[in-house]
Amino acid sequence: MTNRETLRQLLLQLDNRSYKAYRDIKGRYQFPDFTLIIDRVQGDPFASPSQLRVQLPHSVAGFPPNLYQTRSREIALRDYLTRQFAKAAQELSSRRGTGKSGMMAIVPVGQSVLDRTSALITPEFLEVRFVVGLPARGRSILGRQAVEMLCEDIPEIVDKALKYQSLNPNPIQQQVETVEDADGLRQQLSERGLVAFIPDGAMLPRRSGVDERPLLTEAVPFHSPEPLRVEFTCPNRGLVTGMGIPAGITLIVGGGYHGKSTLLRAIELGVYNHIPEDGRELVVTDAGAMKIRAEDGRSIVGVDISPFINQLPQGRSTRQFSTTNASGSTSQAANIMEALEAGATLLLVDEDTAATNFMIRDRRMQQLIAKDKEPITPLIDKIRQLYTDYGVSTILVMGGSGDYFDVADTVIAMENFQPDDVTAKAKAIAQQHQTERTPEGGETFGHITPRIPLAESIDPSRGQRDVKLKVRDVDEVVFGTEEIDLAAVEQIVERGQLRAIASAIVYAKEEYIKGQRPLPEILNQVMADIETQGLDILSHLPEGDLVLFRRFELAAALNRLRSLKVR
Ligand code: ADP
Ligand code: MG
Repeated sequence: MTNRETLRQLLLQLDNRSYKAYRDIKGRYQFPDFTLIIDRVQGDPFASPSQLRVQLPHSVAGFPPNLYQTRSREIALRDYLTRQFAKAAQELSSRRGTGKSGMMAIVPVGQSVLDRTSALITPEFLEVRFVVGLPARGRSILGRQAVEMLCEDIPEIVDKALKYQSLNPNPIQQQVETVEDADGLRQQLSERGLVAFIPDGAMLPRRSGVDERPLLTEAVPFHSPEPLRVEFTCPNRGLVTGMGIPAGITLIVGGGYHGKSTLLRAIELGVYNHIPEDGRELVVTDAGAMKIRAEDGRSIVGVDISPFINQLPQGRSTRQFSTTNASGSTSQAANIMEALEAGATLLLVDEDTAATNFMIRDRRMQQLIAKDKEPITPLIDKIRQLYTDYGVSTILVMGGSGDYFDVADTVIAMENFQPDDVTAKAKAIAQQHQTERTPEGGETFGHITPRIPLAESIDPSRGQRDVKLKVRDVDEVVFGTEEIDLAAVEQIVERGQLRAIASAIVYAKEEYIKGQRPLPEILNQVMADIETQGLDILSHLPEGDLVLFRRFELAAALNRLRSLKVR
């Protein structure tokens, strides 16, 4: 163990030397009240920045144990510390006005509170992981600036962001209590026969399509309609009222621009917790909810889509369907079947992103094009069987067709951003104006056939390099020589989730896929390993930018791997 003075001397000696010499600073340094660990030093000023950690004993960090004693609270506090660190680092760098060389950063976060490797709490200490662009002029080391960053800035950030005594205790308390309440609510959903809950007063709209923060001006708070109003008791906040969406089939109807998609989006993201003041912090959804959409152009590998698609032209089988370029309807069918294979319990569909011919086939079309000339069985004829045969519920935004009134259990109308329960009215209309459709779904939903992925078809290597994983924003992973397009997988909210998913595919291959097991079992194993041993099992170095994902998004990435082969 070396101390801070040693690091200072070392950096001053390195001043002006070639950038490569920075590698000598790798190691552990004992600072007066924390340990600084330099895990990886970048090879040149333009490479990805160096990886560092600080560890503070609990006696120094000083957080009362009740802020991290339960799993919910611990994740909430770690999220809070990540945000505080980001803020303090940001303030410092704007004061110093440094560019990429001389930057200091922690994993970027959004509105969700997620389990991330950026901040960890062990029995002994609090650990925070971040990256630093070690300062350079051209390709020479700027030793003095490095001393400033590592020996002065880091202690300042630690003081400001990671010590309880220098933080305002109220927002921390609010964060841990909010997250605990949300987890509590989500847990109670199924015993109450619900799949989602939106509390009164929730603020659902976002600032823009590219800004997930809440809309501040003119946002209309959510107000539950009487028949669907439910009450919950939360551990901290106590009584909460709002709209409960029952299991079964729910339609969200209403005029264009009246808030349907915004409500569905909030429900989609209700599988995650959100920070206080997000507006959706107590919107909770069944953890098995999967957004389903059309995604033409995607690849599909060996999926049994026969419940929805049969008798393709040229006699192609749909029991093990593969394509490199799926159509809108086929991709939507595959997205549903893959979600079911992965264990989804709630499907979320928005007409805005659905394939029309997958959703409806009305009486006139049934007469013009006979069933034996139409491979697609529309969702309307399968949605009920999915619930009766497999217990899988669906929430569907559908402003354009009333045919679904027959199969819905609940119909919610959005009007001026407010929900109304119009189930009885919709049922009466369905009675009065029969669709006169012929049901096409058969007696049962059909099989959900698990596939066995083949390990040799999953290759993250590229030429000589052993593993190549790269992430662009939240919608693309470079996996070996291949790009996995995840733009249509809408419940991935942070780039760090993609980083973790890419590593999890490699982990799954090594640990489980080699054993030729069915995909659901592989997903179970990987998720269980992460739950018991933490995200660090996915990496060799202690990485600070791995963020927890769900089994569904891991499956989604694997399913979109174009090299994939299955049995
Ligand atoms: P729909 O799907 O019914 O056409 P959207 O959900 O896309 O409608 O909403 C239309 C617009 O209204 C969006 O810009 C959205 O941000 C805004 N909006 C949605 N809900 C609210 C609300 N509660 N208060 C204010 N604006 C809202
Ligand atoms: Mg819409």
